[in-house]
Amino acid sequence: MAVQDIIEALKKETLQDVGIDKNLAQLVKDIKMSGNVLTIVMEPPREGLEDLIRAKAIEVLSELPEVQKVDIKFSKPQGTQIPVKQTPPQGQPQHPPQQPMFTRKQVPGVKHIIAVGSGKGGVGKSTVAANLALALAKLGYKVGLLDADVYGPSVPTLFGLKGERVTVDQFQRLVPIEKYGIKVLSIGFMLPSEDTPIIWRGPMLMKAITEFLFSTKWGNLDYLIMDLPPGTGDVQITLAQNVEMTGAVVVTTPQDVALADVRKAVSMFREVNIPVLGVIENMAYFICPSDKQKYYIFGKGKVAEFASAYNLKILGSIPIDPEVAEKSDKGEPIVVSHPDSEVARAFISIAKMLAQVVHERA
Ligand code: ADP
Repeated sequence: MAVQDIIEALKKETLQDVGIDKNLAQLVKDIKMSGNVLTIVMEPPREGLEDLIRAKAIEVLSELPEVQKVDIKFSKPQGTQIPVKQTPPQGQPQHPPQQPMFTRKQVPGVKHIIAVGSGKGGVGKSTVAANLALALAKLGYKVGLLDADVYGPSVPTLFGLKGERVTVDQFQRLVPIEKYGIKVLSIGFMLPSEDTPIIWRGPMLMKAITEFLFSTKWGNLDYLIMDLPPGTGDVQITLAQNVEMTGAVVVTTPQDVALADVRKAVSMFREVNIPVLGVIENMAYFICPSDKQKYYIFGKGKVAEFASAYNLKILGSIPIDPEVAEKSDKGEPIVVSHPDSEVARAFISIAKMLAQVVHERA
């Protein structure tokens, strides 16, 4: 394989999306081809862009027929300054330390990343993330679902993929599993077992989240839905610092305890500059099978009150339906198993509304 072909391929990818007017060919320091293994040394224009550059390079180089494996190595960016602590002259005010600079990066090939969050657990966040992803796929979009709920990944159960393990392709990219027409990847596919102690699920996996985003073979997606852990923890902060996302939606039930916590979640997203695209009210009411009346078991109007106080759009309300829990446990999400149910119709309507909000923002 001619070096020129590799250079031509790398010229096609640029770093313009992170504000750098360079193509990948301009970063190459060294190229070696040994058998079918291609090793390239690149110099990132600044630190923190390595994951993005690697993902972009593998994306174009994997198209070259002769290349079986790509190994991207990085040299230190030129002009990297080791920060020197300066003592301000006597009598001058001490400024607070500067926030470290982070670059939010677009996941190559993925148009919109939408995070699904909640204040507390048990409000149906994962159920909503899964069915929202499926509803968007039904509308004709190309969709992926990343289960980033490190503390309780439930996507393997919801999709009937329990016990599945993640595989990697020859370029060391994680390969999502295709089910019900969408690409699914769960932290659960990477844990040694379901009983893996919580301590291993914490810091180690949180650090890995951005890596999962950038080193996965997502292909071209219109939407990547991310099921976040509940609350306001490290995963949210890590994402906010490193990943270009379209925004977040928050899920709540009308219960006071859920509403109290979802307020904190909304404030946190705003603080870290992740736009909140809307709120989804889950378990809003129950339709009694005998009289077909709606019963607002947890109260009516409270989510609307919260939404208006926080200037948020309600994307939709989902009723309580025992089928949801039953089918979820069997790995058959309601949008797939009961497409004509009230709940499935609510999800389709929410997906349409979300797509419209995203379109209007763009
Ligand atoms: P979270 O991700 O917020 O912890 P889950 O999605 O795991 O919540 O949902 C918690 C439980 O509630 C699950 O058993 C789920 O099947 C059930 N559930 C969620 N939404 C509904 C609904 N609309 N009707 C009935 N059960 C629901």
